[in-house]
Amino acid sequence: NRQWVLRQRPQGLIKPGDLELVEAPIPALNDGEVLIRTIYLSLDPTNRTWMNEAEGYLPAVPLGGVMRGLTLGVVEESKSERHKAGDIVSTAAGGWSNYAAVADNVVSRVHRAPGLPLTANMSVMGMTGMTAYFGVTDVLKAKEGETLVISAAAGAVGSIAGQVAKARGARVIGIAGGPEKCRWLTEELGFDAAIDYKNEDVGDALDRLAPGGIDLNFENVGGDIMIAVWNRLKVHGRMAVCGLISAYNATRMPPSPNFSRIITHRLQVQGFLVLDYQHRAKEMVAEMGPWLANGQIKWKVHVDDGLEGALDSLNRLFTGDHDGKLLVRVSEE
Ligand code: NDP
Repeated sequence: NRQWVLRQRPQGLIKPGDLELVEAPIPALNDGEVLIRTIYLSLDPTNRTWMNEAEGYLPAVPLGGVMRGLTLGVVEESKSERHKAGDIVSTAAGGWSNYAAVADNVVSRVHRAPGLPLTANMSVMGMTGMTAYFGVTDVLKAKEGETLVISAAAGAVGSIAGQVAKARGARVIGIAGGPEKCRWLTEELGFDAAIDYKNEDVGDALDRLAPGGIDLNFENVGGDIMIAVWNRLKVHGRMAVCGLISAYNATRMPPSPNFSRIITHRLQVQGFLVLDYQHRAKEMVAEMGPWLANGQIKWKVHVDDGLEGALDSLNRLFTGDHDGKLLVRVSEE
């Protein structure tokens, strides 16, 4: 058994020495626990925030502790009434580890979507899909004809959010890094337009693409990109703050928007966490399931092999060097 342990709080991008891959015994089980062999580890931008001391929505990973992460795996051994050996399960209590002994009440049975690979449960039919779906339908309440701008639009959450908004009749503009990601958004996912923030001025492009202003913002990035959108939100514009990835590695906070616009433009700004929607997963499955089955919603996963490369893999989220929901394959299915 190997596991990544947090040794020091990173400053900026994660560096060698911030975490250490250590050998550990396969844990023994207590009553009510299951032994899970990790198959997939989900790498999420928020993992970086859990390494910081700052106040978050979960406690910081303690120094010397195994790095926290969402995993999908198979029960190898069980001392639980709820789960038996061979069950495919997911948990946020397993961490960056080959094996974990986890209390059965924080383990969920994975219901495989018919016809879809197991990676779907770690992406479009998992947290990623839930974030996108409820961000668009519940937080923003996107409506027919409204203009929605999404940042990190070619990423795991953004790409699904844009397609859900299209299905609800919104006009969708995505902001992403590089011509290839932008081409994917418009030519394959059906976004109405895409802005390559690495090669064009976002504000100028928004003025051209949405001259009447922006109704809705699904915000994943923060900083200058968010400000360019913010300054073009219409009166009664609505903003769902999903993530602020440009701040996660920053040693100095990126600039903030001018809050007086909330008053002058009567804006609604709402942050949200997918954790608050766990009990509503069935709603997402009911509406997205058919869209996935008939190919209306497209999705990608980027799978890196091997727990040993997890740090380099995580850094991909901050350079954009990945194509779809980022996962590490820790062992074979
Ligand atoms: P993605 O697959 O979108 O990967 C992150 C992407 O962000 C990168 O591919 C990159 O895309 C872009 N990016 C990274 N750094 C910057 C930067 N400095 N400026 C502009 N773009 C940047 O990850 P996820 O889909 O998992 O997450 C997207 C966002 O959603 C994150 O902010 C995350 O924290 C948030 N989130 C929030 C949840 C919630 O419950 N509120 C749940 C899940 C995710 P590019 O190549 O285009 O630059």
